[in-house]
Amino acid sequence: MAEKHEKAVKRFGVRYGRTIKKKLGLIEAQQRKAHQCPYCRYPKVSRKSAGIWHCSKCNATFTSRAYTVTKPAAVKTEQDLEI
Ligand SMILES: [Zn+2]
Repeated sequence: MAEKHEKAVKRFGVRYGRTIKKKLGLIEAQQRKAHQCPYCRYPKVSRKSAGIWHCSKCNATFTSRAYTVTKPAAVKTEQDLEI
């Protein structure tokens, strides 16, 4: 059965080549999934535009990477330091 990221690039049909579509599919799957909020830790963060992320739980809007949310060093908590 086709993976989610493979389905997402079906819109291109046979065009543009297999490898580049596979790469795009992986990035799009990453950017569309719900990410963990660095402030409230709920997986409720969605992408507004390139690098702009919004948490629907605590209403925080913040910048991170273009296609994914990484944990910024500034909001590290004590839980992070234990690891
Ligand atoms: Zn939040």
